[in-house]
Amino acid sequence: MQIPVATIPTTPVEVRDSRPDERPWGVLPRSSTRCVTVGGVPVGGGAPVAVQSMCDTDTRDVAKTVAQIHDMQEAGCEIVRVAVPDKAAGEAIAKIRPQIGIPLVADIHFDWRLAILAAEKGADKLRINPGNIGGRQRIAEVVACAKDRVLPIRVGVNQGSIEKDLLDKYGGNNPDSLVESALRNVAILEEHGFQDIILSLKSSNPGEAIAAYRSVSQKCQYPLHLGVTEAGPEKTGTLKSAVAMGTLLAEGIGDTIRVSLTGSKTAEIEAAYGILQALGLRRRSPELVSCPSCGRIEIDLMSLVDEVQQTLKQLKTPLKVAVMGCVVNGPGEARDADWGIFGGKGVYLLTRKGELVERFTDREAAQKALTSALMESEANAQSTSVALTAVS
Ligand code: SF4
Repeated sequence: MQIPVATIPTTPVEVRDSRPDERPWGVLPRSSTRCVTVGGVPVGGGAPVAVQSMCDTDTRDVAKTVAQIHDMQEAGCEIVRVAVPDKAAGEAIAKIRPQIGIPLVADIHFDWRLAILAAEKGADKLRINPGNIGGRQRIAEVVACAKDRVLPIRVGVNQGSIEKDLLDKYGGNNPDSLVESALRNVAILEEHGFQDIILSLKSSNPGEAIAAYRSVSQKCQYPLHLGVTEAGPEKTGTLKSAVAMGTLLAEGIGDTIRVSLTGSKTAEIEAAYGILQALGLRRRSPELVSCPSCGRIEIDLMSLVDEVQQTLKQLKTPLKVAVMGCVVNGPGEARDADWGIFGGKGVYLLTRKGELVERFTDREAAQKALTSALMESEANAQSTSVALTAVS
């Protein structure tokens, strides 16, 4: 086996922040959409695909809601939404907003007065369906308020909000009725001269969501908020979301995403970044590449993977680390990893960017060397990041 030999690096590893990295393979250029700014976060117009989520706390419970948003922010959430079912929830926004560091979206159903209240109390965006918020005069008042405060509005249609005449026209819930409902709601805002619009068309069926978003992306240039609604518990919900959002994002469709899971909010955010990272659209955390193992395996790969995974949980730098079960095929299969560890009978290889750094006969020593290399990479990346921030 010929592996080029490298020395342990003394220069910092390349810092890849959470923005898009190099041109991702297999991903079509992003569809051209308007750029709409949500509390300082650009959505659309080629901006990085923003990750968002929604609190499941009672918005009136300010302390709990703020605590949950802090956890979500720590996990990487860039825009957060809260439900505003009544006046007290709208009032609570005035106390929540100053305590959080990310834009807040007020989710309102039916009551135009709550939309105005949420805007007045500091919301950065409103999520409504103009068709069910009130008559023309009431919509005009909501739009005037959003214009005054330079707030965007998300028109969020879903299977449950499609108007009866469209259900009759298209024979029920389907991509065609979703799309026409979305465009009808958009037209209501446009009639009032409002264009700071973000659009979502959510379905619980991934195929239907794909068809609806594909269709609407051909019909308007508003930025699209992707989501599969009622996706289910963590495992199945993540799979459904990955299928729908992964397909659309690979086609260049989608400007912000929310994974909806019956489960923890941080799991939603991790899943969202997982989808973006798998496509090379965002890199935020370390990535572990490991082989499925096969009849050539000569080591306990599972325990090695577990141990490396524990180390990676302590890191923030988006390093790519490979753990492979043999020294014959492993190095070639994981050539593009920042660091790699490959085990065989009586030998362990540590590599960096496909080049051999050191050969070990002892697994523990190899693992320790990898851990200290990763920790050093993390420290270097963090200090470079601090230096970059200082000069920017
Ligand atoms: Fe099999 Fe080696 Fe490939 Fe793992 S790296 S799947 S052990 S050939």
